[in-house]
Amino acid sequence: MDKTLENILVCPGCHGPLTHQAETLICTDTHCQSLPRQWPMVRGVPVMFDEAQSFFRIADARSILESPGRSRWHRWLSKAWHARPGLDRNVAAERNYRHLEQLLRDTQEGLVLVVGCGDEGVGIHHLRTSPHVTLIGLDIRWTASVAVIGDAQQLPFSDEVFDAVVLQGVLEHVLDIFQVEKEVFRILKAQGLVYCELPFLQPNHGGAFDLTRFTWTGHRRFWRRFTQLEAGVCCGPGMAMANMVQQFARAWLPFRAWRILSDWLTDWLFWWLKYLDDWLTKNPASLDGASGLFFLGRKSDHVLSDAELIATYRGGQ
Ligand SMILES: [Zn+2]
Repeated sequence: MDKTLENILVCPGCHGPLTHQAETLICTDTHCQSLPRQWPMVRGVPVMFDEAQSFFRIADARSILESPGRSRWHRWLSKAWHARPGLDRNVAAERNYRHLEQLLRDTQEGLVLVVGCGDEGVGIHHLRTSPHVTLIGLDIRWTASVAVIGDAQQLPFSDEVFDAVVLQGVLEHVLDIFQVEKEVFRILKAQGLVYCELPFLQPNHGGAFDLTRFTWTGHRRFWRRFTQLEAGVCCGPGMAMANMVQQFARAWLPFRAWRILSDWLTDWLFWWLKYLDDWLTKNPASLDGASGLFFLGRKSDHVLSDAELIATYRGGQ
C-alpha cells in the first residue's frame, strides 16, 4: 500500500488505528463496534466497509475486484454503443478544477480525496496531472482510479488530513448526504477545500441509487459550514431541456428495448441543445433552470446563518 495512504487510513467505524497483517487490516481498538473489525486488501486495495453501519458488503466489492473484468468483445460493443453525441455538457468544471489546483499550490501536501472517483469526472485531469496534488480515490466499487473501497458515510481516514475533498456528481447517489457532510468536515484540515457538483433538474440516472436534488439555496445551505469561494451553474438549462425531452419520450414506452432505442434517437435529435448553455449560463435566470450546480468552498468556523443564506440567492425569480 502507498505510504501516504497507510499513514491516514483508520477504522471506518471508530477511527482507531489499524495494524497490518499480511493482506488484512485490523482495528486495534478493543472497544470497536464496527463489523467485521478487520478488512481485506484485495490486489493491494483495502476494502473498508463498516458492515455495522454501511449498506455495502465487503464480499460484493471483493468479488468485483477478483473477477476477470469485461471481455474485449464486450468492451468494444460498449464503446460502439456510446459513440454518439451525448446530451450532457459541463460548462464550469474545467475552470473550477484549474481554480482548485491553483488554491492547492498554497498547501503543503495538496492531498485530495476524490469521493466516487470511479467514473473520471470532467476536468479532474487538472488535478491528476498537477505536481502539487496527490489524489486518493475512494469508491464503493473498484476501477483503475480507486485506491480505497469504502462508503462516503463512514470514511476510513483520520481527522483533518486532507487539503481538499471532491464530490463531483456523487452526493445524489448516497443514502444520507448529511452524514457525508459531517465526514467531509471531519477529514478536512482547517481551511480545507471542498468542490461539489450536484444535479438540480435532471431525470433519474441511477435507478434506486438516485436519491437527491438541490436548488441553489438548498445546495448553499448544505455547505453552510464552508465559506463560499465560487458557486454557480455547471450544467445549464439546455442540457436540462434535452434530458427532460429524452425522459418524456421514454415515459411513453413500456418495454426496455424500446426505451434504449428511444434514448439513441433522442441523443441524435437533441445533442445540440447542450451547446446553448455556453450563452444561457451567463444569464442569472439560468440558475433557476439549471441541470446541475457547483460549490467551491473553504472549511470555516463560521456557520452561514439562514438570513445570510437567503441573501445569497442571485437567480432570476
Ligand atoms: Zn474500530
